[in-house]
Amino acid sequence: MTEAGTERIDCAVVGAGVVGLAVARALALAGREVLVLEADTAIGGGISSRNSEVIHAGMYYPAGSLKARLCVRGNRLLRDFAAEHGVSFSMCGKLIVATDDAEEAKLADILAKGQANGVTGLAAIPAARAREMEPNLSCQAALFSADTGIVDVHGLMLALQGALEAHGGMVALQAPVLGGHAGDDGVTLRVGGAEPMNVVARTVVLAAGLRSCALARSLGLANVPQDYLCKGNYFTLTGKMPFSRLVYPVPVAAGLGVHYTLDLAGRGRFGPDVEWVETEDYSVDPRRGDQFYAAIRRYWPGLPDGALEPGYAGIRPKISGPAEPAADFVVHGPAQHGGAGVVALYGIESPGLTSSLALAELVREMAA
Ligand SMILES: Cc1cc2nc3c(=O)[nH]c(=O)nc-3n(C[C@H](O)[C@H](O)[C@H](O)COP(=O)(O)OP(=O)(O)OC[C@H]3O[C@@H](n4cnc5c(N)ncnc54)[C@H](O)[C@@H]3O)c2cc1C
Repeated sequence: MTEAGTERIDCAVVGAGVVGLAVARALALAGREVLVLEADTAIGGGISSRNSEVIHAGMYYPAGSLKARLCVRGNRLLRDFAAEHGVSFSMCGKLIVATDDAEEAKLADILAKGQANGVTGLAAIPAARAREMEPNLSCQAALFSADTGIVDVHGLMLALQGALEAHGGMVALQAPVLGGHAGDDGVTLRVGGAEPMNVVARTVVLAAGLRSCALARSLGLANVPQDYLCKGNYFTLTGKMPFSRLVYPVPVAAGLGVHYTLDLAGRGRFGPDVEWVETEDYSVDPRRGDQFYAAIRRYWPGLPDGALEPGYAGIRPKISGPAEPAADFVVHGPAQHGGAGVVALYGIESPGLTSSLALAELVREMAA
């Protein structure tokens, strides 16, 4: 402490979700002094605890995009990190299925994108082979991705926090960043909560999920994208689980389609769907179930009536609107936003979990 109410630190990371924690760990490993400022009472209560927990392979994103590059690299880094730190994960594999001719044509596009992106373990397989693998499945063609899996996200975040702390870093909870400004002296953040203070940092990373754009505006950064909230609802499945692998239809406009994922305890769930919203509301409207039955029965005709129950919802931090093409991840440094010492992350939706350790490498280089 240099004066009452002001803390000076080398790096401040705003947000203790999977991305902020991965960035903080990478900075600490590079020898930087790091403080993570988290508004909530615990780590990981934002988008990072409301997703599908899938380790994506990287076949959906345009070649050369950050999503493509960071997902493919992040997949490898995540698996290595999880294995090394005892985080539970399973490379259970995934089938992407086409149920009509139009969808079959889209499968060919996905395969081509995967090949362009350097995705490993991805192959087209005949419908008969897909049905041998998953006898409850109905499809006319499929892709199999061996390098897709699931991970215990909370375990991952705890391991990232542990690695951060082992390298001298700290997480401050109930420390909401209310605003601030970038000046010659460093970046000053106004922090509220029980012990309000100013934090002056040489480097600030904004990894605030749904709040990153608003926070960047409050810091006076330029070129902040327009943000949108896009909810994804999940329904859980009662009764016997139909599949032992993940099963995805071909993607729809703003999401990957209502897919079947498993958690590490073997429980199945379907989702997320796409619901553009104005406010953060995580309730799941049971009436959305009708659309789920219709979407799922295209590839699992045996779904019994009454088997789905409203589960949970997550909200995608979109930076493209309903009628626009999907945006890439956006990572801005001083050249883009004019704020010395700030790296800002926007639109870190799926595959942000998979990409977290690769995003951290990128931010570490930008902050060097
Ligand atoms: C429905 C859904 C399904 C998804 N499925 C997958 C998937 O299967 N695989 C995959 O790879 N990705 C998936 N994703 C994407 C992935 O979950 C996110 O990219 C990732 O969790 C984002 O992490 P984050 O750290 O950026 O954000 P968050 O986890 O939201 O963390 C941001 C943190 O910042 C804090 N914060 C906000 N404002 C402030 C402030 N002013 N001061 C201090 N702290 C603040 C918040 O409290 C929060 O803890 C999915 C996303 C959604 C919505």
